[in-house]
This record gives sequence, C-alpha cells and structure tokens, in this order.
Amino acid sequence: MTDRLDAATAGQDRDLHAFIAGLPKAELHVHHVGSASPRIVSELAARHPDSKVPTDPEALADYFTFTDFAHFIEVYLSVVDLVRTPEDVRLLTFEVARELARQQVRYAELTITPFSSTRRGIDERGFMDAIEDARKAAEAEFGTVLRWCFDIPGEAGLESAEETVRMATDDRLRPEGLVSFGLGGPEIGVPRPQFKPYFDRARAAGLRSVPHAGETTGPETVWDALNELGAERIGHGTSSARDPRLLRYLAERRIPLEVCPTSNIATRAVTTLDEHPVKEFVRAGVLVTINSDDPPMFGTDLNNEFAVAARLLDLDERGLAELAKNGVEASFLDAAGKQRLAAEIDTYTAGRLAS
Ligand SMILES: [Zn+2]
Repeated sequence: MTDRLDAATAGQDRDLHAFIAGLPKAELHVHHVGSASPRIVSELAARHPDSKVPTDPEALADYFTFTDFAHFIEVYLSVVDLVRTPEDVRLLTFEVARELARQQVRYAELTITPFSSTRRGIDERGFMDAIEDARKAAEAEFGTVLRWCFDIPGEAGLESAEETVRMATDDRLRPEGLVSFGLGGPEIGVPRPQFKPYFDRARAAGLRSVPHAGETTGPETVWDALNELGAERIGHGTSSARDPRLLRYLAERRIPLEVCPTSNIATRAVTTLDEHPVKEFVRAGVLVTINSDDPPMFGTDLNNEFAVAARLLDLDERGLAELAKNGVEASFLDAAGKQRLAAEIDTYTAGRLAS
C-alpha cells in the first residue's frame, strides 16, 4: 500500500517536473559569473591553461563540491579569475543564455559585477561591447531576452561603488540592456546606508533599485534597503519573516522578494528547506518570485527551484503558473512585454492541463 502511494507521489512529481521544464519563465536574481556551469568553466579554463581550475568536467564536478561558505567564495573567485578578456566575457554571457533558454527562461535580469572584471584589467569598453554582443546574439539565436543589473560588490568598498555607478551612468559606456542597479557581497559589516549616494545617482539616471538585503542579517537591513536605497525589489529578504510590520509593508506596496531557496541552504542563511520562510511570505501576501542565484555553484537551476517551491508551498500546475507570473509582474519588462509573457504562460498551462 505504502509502495503504491509512493509510486503515485513519484508519478505526480514526474508530471510536475515535466510541467516546470516546459513552463515559460522569468529569472530575476541570477549572477553572471555565478551562472558559469562546469561546461562553461571547462571552456574558459581551456582558454587559460595556466589557471589551476580543472578542465575535465568530472574533476570540475568535484571542484564544485563546497565544504563551506569560505570554500564557495574561493571557487567563485577562481572562476572570476578565468574571465580575463572581452572574448571570455562574451563566451560566458552567451553560454549562460543558452542554459537559461534550455530551461524555457524567456526573460532574465542577469546581475553583473563589472568592477570585478575591469579592476582585473579588462577594458571597460571591451567589457560592455562583449555583454551587449552576447545579449543580441542570444536573443536572435535562443529567443531569450537578457537585461542587466550592475551590482556593487559590497566587500570591495566605496571605490567599487563609485566605479560601478560611473560605468552604469556614463552615456558613452552604459549598455543598452542595463535596467537596474544592485548591491551584493557580504551584509555583515557592510551597512547599506553608506551606498545611498550611489543609488541616488543610479536612480536619477533611470535605473531601478534592487539591492540584496536581509540574506545574512536581520530585517533592519531590508528597512535600510527600502528607506536609504529606494529598493523596488529585495534580493533574498529572507529575514523579513521576523518582522510582521515589514511583511505588511512589502505586501501593501507590492515590493517583491527575490527568493532563492537552495542558495539560502547552501550559504546557511536558512538551516533546512522545511524552515524556509517562503510560506510565511506567501501567507502575508508578499509578491514572491523564485530564482536561482548562483545555480551551478549551488547544484541547482531555476527549474529545480520551482520544484522546491512547489513542494514548500504545496503547488499544483496552476500554482506554479501563478508563481511564474509573479516573476513576470515583478520584472522590469515593459507593460506589453509583461502581457505577452503572462499570456504565453497561460496558453502553455491551459494546453498542458487539457492534454
Ligand atoms: Zn544574489
């Protein structure tokens, strides 16, 4: 009896996975270098034989098995170090788009940290041309629309903030696909308010504000992101669950959270998936979007994050389609683009449910 029930559950899981795999989606919180899969890393490593990163995909799988957060940072930085020329930037960006397209991601806002590359000597103009060239080629070849969020690597201090806002607002450099301005890196010891002048400049230049906040620190960081940085979406916002007033505020103003469940476990922001506050966010009426953060590094992808969300939120196909539409609503697509992608999700869902 139990076996038969398990078999039925496994069958349902298979159906949901197949539904998710074909579901048109938007991805709003995913990092450029953090999206480098073992396949992409091996291609980059082959271009730079002097690096210590293995080129063999099997050895790379071991290399990508993290023992702790410090090890994750070490591996992440070794991948950053493989991106040395505009051609590396182009290859990485285009191949990341290929992997998004494979998951039926129609629209992605990719978080890029240009400062990490330009301070390593990549020419600014070459960097911007490379990402734009990859964006246009990916849209033509895969139909996936890419937009950029330039983020400040918080650990690199105010110099990185100055350089990032300069590159984001200088008309001679600013890439066409740039829509938003972010802040990443560690939160502990890196208070958000110090970045206010840089966010003010980015917002004055028409960029939308999407800082990471409340991932590894408390709800006060999310308040700072809202009040000081004018956040329109919050990267993670995990600790918002501890502050009912904050949840009400986010719900009333329709300020979305970019939730990345597997990442939160990998970085130990949350202890276990079952303790993930995503259920509380939904219960409080907050607009929740599901995202993958640094997918290959956390052994996940967006499809898997949707499967995790389905389990945590007890969603069926219709619920998953609504979740995908949250991503569309929370995106910085224009109204017509949002309408088109939401309609595509509805058509797909109706077709699957009818078959
Ligand atoms: Zn992130």
